[in-house]
Amino acid sequence: MEAPLFGQDETSGKTVIGLRECRRCGHRAFPPVLLGCERCGAPGDDLDAVTVAARGRVLAAVAVFTGEDESITVGSVRLDDGPVVRVALDTPLDTGDEVAGVIVTGENAPALIFRKAT
Ligand SMILES: [Zn+2]
Repeated sequence: MEAPLFGQDETSGKTVIGLRECRRCGHRAFPPVLLGCERCGAPGDDLDAVTVAARGRVLAAVAVFTGEDESITVGSVRLDDGPVVRVALDTPLDTGDEVAGVIVTGENAPALIFRKAT
């Protein structure tokens, strides 16, 4: 079964991110790569769909202007259980801040945004 890019864990209710984990080397990839492992070259059949907590630390953040006075903040977050992901951030945040993903209502579909963890 395919892991979703993000969702709610049915047991804990916490937000999770879907990854691909290599059986040969343990590498976790996001976004999920289906063709094969980007680290060791194992074929796609050796990749398992897994979910990890949407929780980590901010490595970097930058404002991206979407209009004259409008911007969104995009950042790199190292997940506690996985790779670095590029995600939308709710500001204000600083490098090193602990953040957690929440699902919000987007323009056309649910969206994932990371906020300061409580
Ligand atoms: Zn691998």
